[in-house]
Amino acid sequence: MKPAEKTPPVSGDAGKAAYALVIHGGAGVIRKENMSPEKEAAYTASLTAALKIGEEMLASGADALDVVEAVVKFLEDDSLFNAGKGAVLTADGHAELDASIMDGKTGMAGAVAGVKTVKHPIAAARKVMEASDHVMLSGAGADAFAGLQGLEIVPNDYFITEARKQQLEKEKAGIVQDGASNVIKKFGTVGAVALDREGHLAAATSTGGMTNKKYGRIGDSPIIGAGTYAADGIGAVSCTGHGEYFIREAVAYDLIARMKYGKQSIQVASDSIIFTELPKIGGTGGFIAMDAHGQIVMPFNTDGMFRGSVKAGEAPKVLIYQD
Ligand code: ASP
Repeated sequence: MKPAEKTPPVSGDAGKAAYALVIHGGAGVIRKENMSPEKEAAYTASLTAALKIGEEMLASGADALDVVEAVVKFLEDDSLFNAGKGAVLTADGHAELDASIMDGKTGMAGAVAGVKTVKHPIAAARKVMEASDHVMLSGAGADAFAGLQGLEIVPNDYFITEARKQQLEKEKAGIVQDGASNVIKKFGTVGAVALDREGHLAAATSTGGMTNKKYGRIGDSPIIGAGTYAADGIGAVSCTGHGEYFIREAVAYDLIARMKYGKQSIQVASDSIIFTELPKIGGTGGFIAMDAHGQIVMPFNTDGMFRGSVKAGEAPKVLIYQD
């Protein structure tokens, strides 16, 4: 479906970043005392490399949509994160992946849920957006569509790592991992939000979901308005956390609606959602978001969230804990 341009680019604003990028690698029980220096360095290096890829593209005038797709693809390939290779496992030991992408310029969106063989679920989500009449495809149909679109198809084993097998076994045995029992501890979802030189916004999210998930469970990540949203002139967001709560609160669109209709600043809106509304129902997690001026927020109500950002003229920043 050929998208029509909906919102003109925002330009000429004082204080507006020429371009900006913010990424996450999941929120959860991420404590310094549980992290080896080697692992911390590996996460930092990967997030820094992802920012570099995105910044080079943005600096040379790439479209925000291309940037968020490229950055998420890179993180899907890194088995450190719960997306693509290295995804968490279902109760029966498979990887079932969810992803979504939204273009703030056109208001178009695409998503896949429960896919098992497309190497880059985020690329499949984009194909759904651009080469189908639909917004979300699921399961075997989505994998078949991705193959027909020429995307790389891999056996499900490609996604499965030894570390995730062990994590599943511990989870099934009821062994408390990383010192946490009733808060989200299956972190590692990835996401990116970008503002390009033309003033366009885009957002993308990709995940393996939650360890030991059953019955074809789908989280917030592939749901437009829950895990991902982008609207030029307003803002864009990618979430991570306990998906059931993010779906019930429509977190991604709640942020946009507060800014669009309630005229709240991104900071006020984000703080209210993550520190007041989600905790009221027991929801844990966070998100990365940006307004139309490139102002970035990265709130989370867990111990940590792998995250990083870069703006034109500023050095890239990568953070993990509550610092
Ligand atoms: N939000 C994801 C889900 O519920 C998980 C995560 O972000 O870690 O599937």
